[in-house]
Amino acid sequence: MNDRPLLELRAVRAAYEQITVLHGVDLAVSAGQVVALLGPNGAGKTTTLRVAAGIHPPSSGTLLMGGRDMTGAAPHDLARKGVCLIPEGRGVFPNLSVRDNLLMMTFTGRSRDEVEEVAFARFPVLAKRAGQTAGTLSGGEQQMLALARGLATDPAVLLLDELSMGLAPLVVGRLYEQVTEIARQGVAVLVVEQFAAAVLDIADHAAVLVRGRIERQGDPDEELRTELSALYLGSS
Ligand code: ATP
Repeated sequence: MNDRPLLELRAVRAAYEQITVLHGVDLAVSAGQVVALLGPNGAGKTTTLRVAAGIHPPSSGTLLMGGRDMTGAAPHDLARKGVCLIPEGRGVFPNLSVRDNLLMMTFTGRSRDEVEEVAFARFPVLAKRAGQTAGTLSGGEQQMLALARGLATDPAVLLLDELSMGLAPLVVGRLYEQVTEIARQGVAVLVVEQFAAAVLDIADHAAVLVRGRIERQGDPDEELRTELSALYLGSS
C-alpha cells in the first residue's frame, strides 16, 4: 500500500445556500486502501463524496489528488484524473439492457469487447443478464452493474455511496468482497455507509462523521465499533 494519499480532503467546509453542513472534514485515502465513512442520516456523508467528485465545491478547505491541489476543479476534470462516484441509488439506466448500460462506457476509449470482458470477468452473472433491462435485475445485480460501469472508467479513486442500501447481508458481503479485490488492485476506495457492521469487516480505516464533523477516525477496531453502536442507539 502506498502511504501517500491519492485523495485527500483537508479542513473541508461545505454549505447549501447559507447552511454549513461540513465543518472542517479531514480525510485521506491511499491507493489500495478501503476507507469507510460512517455516520447517521444527514451527517454529511454524501456531501463529502460530492466534494471529492467536484460536484459540490467546498466553501473552504482543500481537495488534493496525489498531493496536487484540485480544489474547485470541475467534475469532468476530476473524472479525468480517475475519480469515479457511484451514487446512492446506483445510477444505472433501468430501461436499457445490461449490455447497453455497459456499451455507454465505451466513451472511455475502451472497445465494447473490452468493457464487456472486464465487467463479465468480475461479475459473471451480468453476462447471463446481458440482454435483460437493468430495471429487472435484482438490487445486488444492479449494484454490480453500477460497479462494472464505474470500473470501465479505470478509476484511481472509487467513491461508493451506500452500496449496501436495501440489500440482503449475504449480497452485501459478496459486493464487499469485490470492493476489497478492487482496492487490492491499487484503487483508493472511499465507502460511505450509514450502518457499519459489514463495511468495517473490509475497511482498512474508518471515520465517523456526525453533524458535519469527523468525531473519530482510525482502525476499525472494537473501540470504534462500540462507539458507533452507542452513537446509533443514542440517535434513534
Ligand atoms: P443520508 O444518509 O441521509 O444520505 P448524509 O450523511 O449523506 O445523509 P448529506 O446528504 O450529505 O448527509 O446531507 C447533509 C446535510 O445537508 C443534511 O442536513 C441535508 O438535509 C442537507 N442537504 C443535502 N443536500 C442538500 C441540498 N441539495 N440542498 C440543501 N440541503 C441539503
